[in-house]
Amino acid sequence: MQNQIVFITGASSGIGAACAKIFAHAGAKLILAARRWERLQQLANSLDIPSEKIHLLQLDVCDRLAVESAIANLPSSWKNIDILINNAGLSRGLSKLQEGDFQDWEEMIDTNIKGLLYLTRYVVPGMVERNHGHVINIGSIAGHQTYPGGNVYCGTKAAVKAISEGLKQDLLGTPVRVTSVDPGMVETEFSQVRFHGDTERAKKVYAGVNPLTPDDVADVIFFCATRASHVNINEVILMPVDQA
Ligand code: NDP
Repeated sequence: MQNQIVFITGASSGIGAACAKIFAHAGAKLILAARRWERLQQLANSLDIPSEKIHLLQLDVCDRLAVESAIANLPSSWKNIDILINNAGLSRGLSKLQEGDFQDWEEMIDTNIKGLLYLTRYVVPGMVERNHGHVINIGSIAGHQTYPGGNVYCGTKAAVKAISEGLKQDLLGTPVRVTSVDPGMVETEFSQVRFHGDTERAKKVYAGVNPLTPDDVADVIFFCATRASHVNINEVILMPVDQA
């Protein structure tokens, strides 16, 4: 992992921030992207690695032109991305489809599907050209099991599963790897974002379950990224023991 370039979207909190820590510890160079600049700076300051091994990007993955420009304008020493972790994502609301909020739908579809597609589209050609690379998409158990009120979020994560499988097919004949890491419940800011900052409602989500930690998920992502180069882990589902 020494000096490999790892691009992590949604690095400002939760699973993305945990990935930053584990890959930094292993000697990687990190491109950390998210919208909240101060949070990225705090994370960078907390990582015990030289500043020249971190490149911060304030980036909204939903903005295709911004993604294109961010990738095109990376300094030359940061251009050769070895690992792309498409982690930025969110859920909004829990409501019946027939009562759903259009803004919530758009945010989920734009971030979880289109954002992931934009990053992949702009980063993967360089990997193919250099004959080296790994795309790790963060899906969810929600892409395998649909729960009441989860309609659109589950749909976006089912799309991530299909896109990961499709990309794997499209990259056959190249050494570029594709993995989907699909966690169950992880305690992060995810639930607060889902309920638009309603902390009480967010806490209730974890009642009766000992959820995964962001580090649990980052560990699995790191494992997938560090197999021998001929080994592709296509998909991993990891769940809290007590989540159905
Ligand atoms: P967090 O809310 O802690 O982190 C989400 C991250 O995504 C933040 O860093 C946020 O940064 C970033 N993000 C959201 N929208 C955008 C955007 N438009 N552009 C750039 N970055 C964005 O949640 P998690 O760590 O839990 O979520 C990470 C991934 O894991 C998501 O894809 C989620 O769907 C998935 N997941 C989470 C589970 C859970 O139970 N927590 C379970 C299964 C999967 P910022 O706001 O600064 O832009």
